[in-house]
Amino acid sequence: MEHIAIIGSGFCGTVLAIQLLRNANGPLRLSLINRSGRLARGLAYGTHSASHILNVPAERMSLFPDRPSDFLEFARQQMPDARPGDFLPRRFYGDYLQDRLGRAIAEAAPGVRFSSLCQQVVELTDQGDHLRLMLDDGQTLDSYKVVIATGNFAPATPGPLTPLEQDPRYLRDPWTAGALEAIPTDASVLLLGTGLTMYDMALALQDQGHRGALLALSRRALLPQAHRDNAHHPVLPKLPEDFLHDMRLTQRLSSLRALIHQAAQDGHDWRDVIAALRPVTPQLWQGLDEVDRGRFLRHLQPYWDVHRHRAAPPVAQRINKLCATGQLRVQAGRVLAARSSQGGIELDVRRRGASETVVERFDFLINCTGPSTNLRTVDEPLLRGLLEQGVIRQDKQGLGLDTDAGFHLLDAQGAVNPHLYLLSPMLRASHWEATAVPELRVHAARLAELLLA
Ligand SMILES: Cc1cc2nc3c(=O)[nH]c(=O)nc-3n(C[C@H](O)[C@H](O)[C@H](O)COP(=O)(O)OP(=O)(O)OC[C@H]3O[C@@H](n4cnc5c(N)ncnc54)[C@H](O)[C@@H]3O)c2cc1C
Repeated sequence: MEHIAIIGSGFCGTVLAIQLLRNANGPLRLSLINRSGRLARGLAYGTHSASHILNVPAERMSLFPDRPSDFLEFARQQMPDARPGDFLPRRFYGDYLQDRLGRAIAEAAPGVRFSSLCQQVVELTDQGDHLRLMLDDGQTLDSYKVVIATGNFAPATPGPLTPLEQDPRYLRDPWTAGALEAIPTDASVLLLGTGLTMYDMALALQDQGHRGALLALSRRALLPQAHRDNAHHPVLPKLPEDFLHDMRLTQRLSSLRALIHQAAQDGHDWRDVIAALRPVTPQLWQGLDEVDRGRFLRHLQPYWDVHRHRAAPPVAQRINKLCATGQLRVQAGRVLAARSSQGGIELDVRRRGASETVVERFDFLINCTGPSTNLRTVDEPLLRGLLEQGVIRQDKQGLGLDTDAGFHLLDAQGAVNPHLYLLSPMLRASHWEATAVPELRVHAARLAELLLA
């Protein structure tokens, strides 16, 4: 019997499992393996905080590309007034994932055998016509097709913070359960990074009654833009044909500015232009050579991120209020060195545009720099092992892993591994847009089709 094993049951692994269960009509054995024990949650939807809100409106959060209102229908069973443009809690989205997985298991065709395992996969070996998975309790599992859906890596410690690694006042991974509980309400806290992770942490601190000063620091101090209140459905502008042709990066940037300018004259918002780019972003990314990709990542990515990955309006409003009261300050600058001292964490900071360095002290430091993409430095035995053995390879820009168009992972020589697939934000290496639900659900549906073909 065909056996497919999915490693990881966050968003990607769960949605793939649902698609396989719904669409398999012959004999199939499906194993879903997750180390955390909580299926269908993952990092994003495993949060317990009601302040952690989806940053995509409900109407675009269905698991199924061909049934766009599925999430909204689920939401309306509990919140009859839920509107398409509402930004709902992320933990509620986890309930939705769990519900749809349960339903798919119950409704699977006869002959489809599903099992879930609460184990970490620590090693994967090639057995010729199949792969063997080694689990952390020493058991093995053989499978013809294995999908790596292990998600984002934990944030890495930025170089200058290395001396703080053993200091309990430095929170390297703010997503560790209960990480913020150790912070007293009057502590001064540095939030390193000014993106959506910083927003999540500032709000979680506020929820636990924090009164101490918060400083958010990043090189440019760019804050994520806010979504509009999506009560009105925008009509997306049509992109001109020549915009989709191959262009150098600088041409594309000026062309995008012209489009936004034109859209504003036609009564659109800049957000509509960014939304119109979304379906063609992989095509635009694939049209860039490595030099332009590198230039984009060095110079433009911070601007892209804050315009593309926006905050839900209620989140942005709370952050604005925190800034207005002076509790949260946002500054542009760089940490050059860090030390642990009795009185707190001491940092040498160079403000943007300044030539001298100032010493600042904080009671706690939260690393809000976002997931690491550097496989060589992460503490993940499975992927590190595969990389060291040359079974998989990182892309040239260090964004993720190289795959072919059928989601097969490529080995160190660029050869396709016929048994090993990838479904994760690490697909950004070839698609750039592989971060959020609207893209990942399409990849999941396509991969399920290929696996069952
Ligand atoms: C904080 C946050 C908020 C987000 N908010 C939104 C949003 O509002 N809207 C949106 O569209 N997108 C959002 N995203 C983006 C997107 O939805 C996620 O990145 C997506 O959930 C990725 O899913 P994943 O399955 O790849 O990873 P994850 O959901 O993290 O799941 C990976 C799973 O694999 C398991 N695992 C890892 N290694 C192993 C191993 N060796 N063996 C067994 N199991 C393993 C982990 O325990 C985990 O459960 C958000 C992302 C984050 C991080």
